[in-house]
Amino acid sequence: MLGATGAVGQTFLRLLHDHPWFEVAELAASERSAGQAYGAVAKWLDGAMPQRYADRAVLPCDPAVVHAPIVFSALDSSVAGEVEAAFAHAGRLVFSNAKNYRMAPDVPLLIPEVNPDQLGLISRQRRERHWPGAILTNANCAATVAAVALAPIHERFGIRQLVLTTMQAVSGAGYPGVPSLDILGNAIPYIADEEPKIEAELAKLLGRTEGELLKPAGLRASAHANRVAVEHGHTVCASIGCASPTSADAVIAAIDEWAGDRHVAGLPSAGRALVRTDAPNRPQPRRDVYAGAGMTVTVGRIRPDPVFDVKLVALGHNVVRGAAGGSILNAELALAQGLRPHAS
Ligand code: NAP
Repeated sequence: MLGATGAVGQTFLRLLHDHPWFEVAELAASERSAGQAYGAVAKWLDGAMPQRYADRAVLPCDPAVVHAPIVFSALDSSVAGEVEAAFAHAGRLVFSNAKNYRMAPDVPLLIPEVNPDQLGLISRQRRERHWPGAILTNANCAATVAAVALAPIHERFGIRQLVLTTMQAVSGAGYPGVPSLDILGNAIPYIADEEPKIEAELAKLLGRTEGELLKPAGLRASAHANRVAVEHGHTVCASIGCASPTSADAVIAAIDEWAGDRHVAGLPSAGRALVRTDAPNRPQPRRDVYAGAGMTVTVGRIRPDPVFDVKLVALGHNVVRGAAGGSILNAELALAQGLRPHAS
């Protein structure tokens, strides 16, 4: 576990606690933390820190020191690029949460229920980069929530235009994140670097691969990203224009009939990727963020849009589905499909 001390790293540890396939063997973080007990350097954010981690010595993020064949990375993007490449070069399978490799044409930007075909990019990555291992990424947390809700619509009607307005939780900024006096009782209409990521990643997430070639979705997206005083859960309000005129009822049918979950059937972290609510005032972070233990995106308020075709509201857990939980599901899918680290 690289970046084990951070907000996402801790969520990984919580979710991997009793995982049937994975056992957390090593905890690594920055040089500031390396050599110290995990319990002394990690500010545990949720309940009591499991004792099995508290006494472990934190390791540096160095593949010569960290030996696990499967590596989950919750590293800050300032270091993820170099460190994750070093682990892939050393033969490990790296499941990354950072932005560094997401848009590379040979790196999967994976949501198993939406685009499992992106695993096909790995052979190209290994060949062109001479990595015996591999890097697989998950998307920006707001882009993930949007992609899960939009996938059934894009598959059936072909989305061409999108306007997305987000209300993003403070946990999306990591720990300690946004100062309390900046966010309490407030909404901040700016999240650095967020809008271009959402716009670009959605086209890759909803794209298709043909063999080793990625074909991004032919859509234009415009994102407005806002930070709000919510602990967990990113809300995305979307106005959607499709290739041909589409009604709210047709979109509801597409969502109800969507079969993306078939790609993850039998995997330990699989549940329902998407549920729809008819309640006029849902989804809400307080009430819906833990749907499916944080792995389910809730979509509601599907209605006609006077400018585009339809509009809706989607909500998902940014640290579970949008980060650690999504990354674990990526690893389960990759292993189930036969991807393996390079034996040392
Ligand atoms: P965070 O709380 O700030 O944690 C950052 C982690 O990176 C810590 O473990 C830190 O270790 C480690 N780190 C920092 N500098 C390092 C260095 N020079 N060398 C090695 N390790 C270093 O951030 P986070 O919210 O957990 O996010 C982690 C990653 O996931 C980021 O890339 C973020 O963009 C991405 N992400 C976050 C979310 C979310 O909702 N929070 C969602 C999707 C993706 P020390 O404690 O030793 O400094």
